[in-house]
Amino acid sequence: MVRNRKFWLAMFVLVILVVVASCESPGGTSHAGIDLMSPSSHVETPQEYETNDYETSGYEAGEYYAEPEIGLPPDPGKLDLQSDVVFVAGRYAGFLTWGYFHHSSVERPVAFIESSVFDTNTGDALDIYDIIDYEMLDKVLSLLEMAILAHVPEATPYLNMIEASWLTHLVIDYNGLRVLLAPDIAPWDLGFVYVELPYEDLDEAFLLGVELGLREPPHRPMVALTFDDGPTIYTDMILDLLEAAGGRATFCVLGYRIQRHPDTLIRAVELGSEIIGHSWDHSDFTRLNANAISSQITRTSDAIEAVIGFAPPLMHRAPFGLANDRVFDVSQDLGYSLLHWSVDPQDWRNRCPDWIYYYIMKRVVDGSIILLHDIHTTTAEAMIQVIPRLIEEGFQLVTASELIEYHYGEIEPGLRYQGFRNAPW
Ligand code: ZN
Repeated sequence: MVRNRKFWLAMFVLVILVVVASCESPGGTSHAGIDLMSPSSHVETPQEYETNDYETSGYEAGEYYAEPEIGLPPDPGKLDLQSDVVFVAGRYAGFLTWGYFHHSSVERPVAFIESSVFDTNTGDALDIYDIIDYEMLDKVLSLLEMAILAHVPEATPYLNMIEASWLTHLVIDYNGLRVLLAPDIAPWDLGFVYVELPYEDLDEAFLLGVELGLREPPHRPMVALTFDDGPTIYTDMILDLLEAAGGRATFCVLGYRIQRHPDTLIRAVELGSEIIGHSWDHSDFTRLNANAISSQITRTSDAIEAVIGFAPPLMHRAPFGLANDRVFDVSQDLGYSLLHWSVDPQDWRNRCPDWIYYYIMKRVVDGSIILLHDIHTTTAEAMIQVIPRLIEEGFQLVTASELIEYHYGEIEPGLRYQGFRNAPW
């Protein structure tokens, strides 16, 4: 609430300033055309004020001075303001107001500048280091230097003074960051200088580039958790943990179990996880003929589709991970690849959540595919530690298909994938 109040307060102040600025220029002509690049040429003397006031109010100059007993009104000064409001990507709102305050008591006009950028999704006011990567400040300042030089060649003598504070007043615009240099920040006599730093030059130094759709999100290490032999009552426990962590996984289900937990599978898919087959009844594929292998794969896929409403990925996990040439050939003919793994805590044998947790955390790397079984309570319990810890360590929990597609491009039929660090075969 407090943040939102700040946002609207800034809007309010801006509107007031604009209204004040326009009220201070009766007729709208005497101050409208100020040239910000050379403010000194527009410093008005008290005499000019008086003359202008008379002309616009329709009195003769002489009448004014004919009644000295009234006294000269105190000079209220004049405010010349410009403003820029930019609203980008339906999300970021930037306000800039700048100009001069002229008064007979000061020799030069006083520069005035206000700026703010808000993330309207959160109501947060952003400061420069929410917008620019501090680590890349040198790059940003050298872009600023180039932009200033291109705009104002006379600024050269001042550029050795360039520093982070010169970026204080900026707005997020459509094609770049617009930076306004005020006479109080950049100590020169050139007045206000408004330049733009294009996003394509800023590249990664512009921290909001991903949100604005200018860049792909940076790759974070990926892990695919895969759960075999379900669905069971433990599958939902695991889904709860994935949901809380914003993660996804791959469930390699047995055909004959599918109809026992249809809601679980639908929920898994809705949470972004994927369901693939792991045979109909866990038969060892290497002991089956081609027709039987084919039937185990397609019958299971069809059963998955009947529940979730669309065809699952063309990927299968062979029971026991066992495959011979015949299994590869049948898979290829059907357009399927085989999903193996790179980390195996043998959770079917090691029924200790802590043990499973330490085993995984010791071996997990970017691109790991981890073999687990959602038929054991100890495995589900291990996930209470494993899932949040992986997120804490910077991993994103993705499906096996996502991981493979990210690292290999397309998933090829007839190949077996066991994680990114290992070549498929
Ligand atoms: Zn299995």
